[in-house]
Amino acid sequence: MAAAASAAQPSAGGAPATEGTKAKPSCAGYDWLIVGAGFAGAVLAERIASQRGERVVVVDRRDHIGGNAYDHLDAAGVLIHRYGPHIFHTNSEQIFSYLSRFTGWRPYEHRVLAEVKSPATGETMQVPMPINLDTINRLYGLSLTEDDVESWLASRAEQVDQVRTSEDVVVGKVGRELYELFFRGYTRKQWALDPSELDKSVTARVPTRTNRDDRYFTDRFQAMPAEGYTAMFRRILDHPLITVCTGMPFEDARRRFAFRRLVWTGPVDEYFGFRFGKLPYRSLRFRHETLDREWALPTGTVNHPDEATPFTRVSEYKWMTGQTHPKTSVTYEYPSAEGDPYYPIPRPENAALYKRYEALADAEADTWFVGRLATYRYYNMDQVVGQALATFERIQKTVPREAAN
Ligand code: FAD
Ligand code: UDP
Repeated sequence: MAAAASAAQPSAGGAPATEGTKAKPSCAGYDWLIVGAGFAGAVLAERIASQRGERVVVVDRRDHIGGNAYDHLDAAGVLIHRYGPHIFHTNSEQIFSYLSRFTGWRPYEHRVLAEVKSPATGETMQVPMPINLDTINRLYGLSLTEDDVESWLASRAEQVDQVRTSEDVVVGKVGRELYELFFRGYTRKQWALDPSELDKSVTARVPTRTNRDDRYFTDRFQAMPAEGYTAMFRRILDHPLITVCTGMPFEDARRRFAFRRLVWTGPVDEYFGFRFGKLPYRSLRFRHETLDREWALPTGTVNHPDEATPFTRVSEYKWMTGQTHPKTSVTYEYPSAEGDPYYPIPRPENAALYKRYEALADAEADTWFVGRLATYRYYNMDQVVGQALATFERIQKTVPREAAN
């Protein structure tokens, strides 16, 4: 592995400690360097240290652990998510019980309203999203039943022979009017692409319902870490064989530490020096605001799908965290081409470019690529945890354990 071969001996002492990190003296080499202290990196560090007894150094160029799930108290003392609202949900008992070793949970089912103009009256209203029976009845002033609404939607749905794109998925289910109201503008803002240019998997994340279920997710397990994500990450990484250095990019870490094996959770194209060109990622700018009142929104998130509003959604954390506080904090999300890479962009040409990087990644000795950016997959947190646990199983089968040093 090129990275390990050129690695210099480490000097004593980690980077200065910042929130959520531990600076431990490091005067020997490491078995593993893990780049990225998000879900992918933290889970692998924990597994490798606790199950293999090997020494791990985790570095992150940000000044904190937790990756995009990082949360902290803002100036007013309200717990907020620096990189936008993160709601945990999974159908996997294995993933939920693994994380439960490091956190208690607060049951929480996320609910979202979309602010739209009724096509019937022109009135602006906030209605349940995903589209459900109540959404239709309120928008059109109807009193359809669950049985009625299926045929009502079927009569508006367009015939789509092959569902390929994010437009096909929606117009094939609810027709063009509802597609334009709820999906077209939001998607064009979020991705700077028309839904017809995006893989079907993107809008398929948001189903259409004919019942009155107004939860955003229907997974078996839906809960927030009781003391927040950062507290959970602190516990995941709290192991005598794990050293954490925040504020440290890979380039510094590879010079500073000797290591035998590498886990990379950053962007895969960056690792390979953008050899085949840049993989497209979409970014966001977050506007965090604290309001001098107890509550701001009628629910955890309000979506603004119209193209004229520059942000896509606004979220209020106290719904999710259950925190009691006389003030409240909200975050607006403004999609952007510039900034940290948050979203891989699912479309065929990007998948083809990723395949070329994946082939390089597969051939890279003693190096594992894990997580949303390293495998260019639009994964939720639980999927990243699942991928990290599966990677660990592969490591167990294929990598001989280091003798204790
Ligand atoms: P990350 O969390 O991105 O961690 C990678 C880390 O690697 C970063 O901290 C980065 O600084 C570091 N890094 C990269 N390159 C280098 C380098 N060269 N040197 C050093 N460090 C480096 N999922 C859900 O399940 N529910 C949600 O509600 C949800 N909401 C989301 C909202 C937004 C706005 C976004 C953007 C994502 C959301 N997600 C949600 C997805 C979730 O954030 C990801 O699935 C998860 O955080 C990915 O973990 P990861 O470890 O793969 O990557
Ligand atoms: N989407 C939309 N309107 C909405 C909500 C979602 O068009 O009101 C589309 C949009 O393309 C978005 C995708 O569905 O990017 C997935 O939505 P989700 O809420 O899962 O996005 P995330 O939380 O990952 O940003």
